[in-house]
Amino acid sequence: MPLLEGSVGVEDLVLLEPLEEESLLRNLQLRYEHKEIYTYIGNVVISVNPYQQLPIYGPEFIAKYQDYTFYELKPHIYALANVAYQSLRDRDRDQCILITGESGAGKTEASKLVMSYVAAVCGKGEQVNSVKEQLLQSNPVLEAFGNAKTIRNNNSSRFGKYMDIEFDFKGSPLGGVITNYLLEKSRVVRQLQGERNFHIFYQLLAGADAQLLEALKLQRDTSGYTYLNQEASRVGGMDDASNFSAVRSAMTVIGFSEEEIRQVLEVTALVLKLGNVELTDEFQANGIPASGIRDGRGVREIGEMVSLDSAALERALCSRTMETSREKVTTALNVTQAQYARDALAKNIYSRLFNWIVNRINESIKVGSGERKKVMGVLDIYGFEILEDNSFEQFVINYCNEKLQQVFIEMTLKEEQEEYKREGIPWVKVDYFDNGIICNLIEHNQRGILAMLDEECLRPGVVSDSTFLAKLNQLFCNHSHYESKVTQNAQHQYDRSMGLGCFRICHYAGKVTYNVNSFIDKNNDLLFRDLSQTMWKARHPLLRSLFPEGDPKQASLKRPPTAGAQFKSSVAILMKNLYSKNPNYIRCIKPNEHQQRGRFSSELVATQARYLGLMENVRVRRAGYAHRQVYAHFLERYRLLSQSTWPHWNGGAREGVEKVLGELNLSPQELAYGKTKIFIRSPKTLFYLEEQRRLR
Ligand code: ATP
Ligand code: MG
Repeated sequence: MPLLEGSVGVEDLVLLEPLEEESLLRNLQLRYEHKEIYTYIGNVVISVNPYQQLPIYGPEFIAKYQDYTFYELKPHIYALANVAYQSLRDRDRDQCILITGESGAGKTEASKLVMSYVAAVCGKGEQVNSVKEQLLQSNPVLEAFGNAKTIRNNNSSRFGKYMDIEFDFKGSPLGGVITNYLLEKSRVVRQLQGERNFHIFYQLLAGADAQLLEALKLQRDTSGYTYLNQEASRVGGMDDASNFSAVRSAMTVIGFSEEEIRQVLEVTALVLKLGNVELTDEFQANGIPASGIRDGRGVREIGEMVSLDSAALERALCSRTMETSREKVTTALNVTQAQYARDALAKNIYSRLFNWIVNRINESIKVGSGERKKVMGVLDIYGFEILEDNSFEQFVINYCNEKLQQVFIEMTLKEEQEEYKREGIPWVKVDYFDNGIICNLIEHNQRGILAMLDEECLRPGVVSDSTFLAKLNQLFCNHSHYESKVTQNAQHQYDRSMGLGCFRICHYAGKVTYNVNSFIDKNNDLLFRDLSQTMWKARHPLLRSLFPEGDPKQASLKRPPTAGAQFKSSVAILMKNLYSKNPNYIRCIKPNEHQQRGRFSSELVATQARYLGLMENVRVRRAGYAHRQVYAHFLERYRLLSQSTWPHWNGGAREGVEKVLGELNLSPQELAYGKTKIFIRSPKTLFYLEEQRRLR
């Protein structure tokens, strides 16, 4: 049980003395410098990205962690995965593993470590192995279509992911279900300097053989494609061509047919080609601006590849039809509007393709509903974000984190409470910040910010981002967690950095200023009907299936839910799912901004520790008893402190512990004897015990 302070700091922050932010950071840094990247807070694992391959993974380590209980070996993700899996298999408790942290902190790598651990220890046999293989191979496929190089992370997941892995009563895997959240589709048409589009585009161009390129009418050179950012077409250490063949074979393992793979690649190529459709200024006879297509070849190639009428596509890109019950009016789009329509189409095709791929994987790995299952959920989702310019995306991401924080506090407290109850120890009330008020501000059904946004999106008449903001300002001017330029009064400091078009939310992790610009647009997420109808008319089965609303018979259907409403309901489903399971936490931390090994920036880590609520976590965890241990293990370690138990003890473990502690004259408030465990209130007492041990 090497939990205590040594040259590498404490392995469990619950034992930190004194408990301050500074000592917490110093402890993490000390450990990081010794390549100890994992640290516990009770049963929570903190992981600091090493940015180097450490020799602590693989079959040998998996075998080791399988044979020991949680605190017996060094902190490790394997230890957490082991506890979760054993508790699922032997105690029949569904588990979820929540992995959070900011971009580049190591969430996706952590989720893969959990999956590979579980795959290694759960069941054998041909059938079981093929299920494992399918589950593991879903990763490269999702990463190809959903990950991209960003400034912060060369392999950044641009979507949130929750995966339920399902097991039979013996603990052998049966299959699973993947849910994806909010793909960053704006990346399809535009990337920041130094960033790339989604990996698959580069993989396709680099890895397709000449025949495939010819069939898709693509050229190998990325410089020919407007949607691909030219300065960052290569990523050091990443082999796009070989990844392409890995993705193709992963798709085959999962069960995609050759035909399906071909269609997926055709739709991918279609997006690239769409980006090259160049729109130009034109004028109608009456002088009103309109738009046209500079060179019809691109549109014709698209038409041939996915069997759609290229003239209809041209029309749909450059004009818009408004239908009322009595008539149809077609208006020309000017160049800016036509470019907007083209980009909206590309983004929609790609994000729908991504959803289709997730669904297709689910079809392959799904388990019959009749079977009784045990479930382990793994959540790899974006952490709290404060960027220079925060928009709708950051708003919903931070909302999700607010909800996760709520789950975290409630479940950690509940877990503590339950353990005390199980052990027959009186519960000690814990004070903590309840962020329900912030969740409510955002999600309240009638009066929340998301509801206000929907109301504004659906309201007839002239609506804009600023009418939306005005509404918020009016409604929330007295809310303690809402600020804006106009609500700033004596209680809020005047802040020049907040523009007029902004509002600010005081999240549990800190204040974030959101710019309302394009909130309405992003929430509406509408595609002109002309475009969806044109796509639906394609004789390409996959493309057509992505646009069901293009079917004229469906045209009168209700409008689809807004992006915000969809996100809110998927978060609600996620929360319900998490609440029904036993939680296990992995908190990932990025040690520096340069993706470099060995560098630890205290300032950067301090911010993340705050976002992750680590101090709050430690406080809650040791509000009652900082340390607990089953009697037998405790006795084994400390029995040398008493002549009654050393060198021989024949009595029960609990009696032995009573003997040892009884002789030490500890204050009775410091100890509680549970049914199976001894509880120790303050770290000091544990340090004292260790000290005594050293003196013997
Ligand atoms: P994002 O939110 O952008 O998806 P993330 O938290 O998922 O970020 P990862 O992609 O898991 O971050 O990690 C970023 C990179 O850090 C990895 O590609 C890898 O190079 C390195 N890394 C992360 N964890 C480990 C680890 N345990 N060992 C070695 N390298 C790691
Ligand atoms: Mg990731």
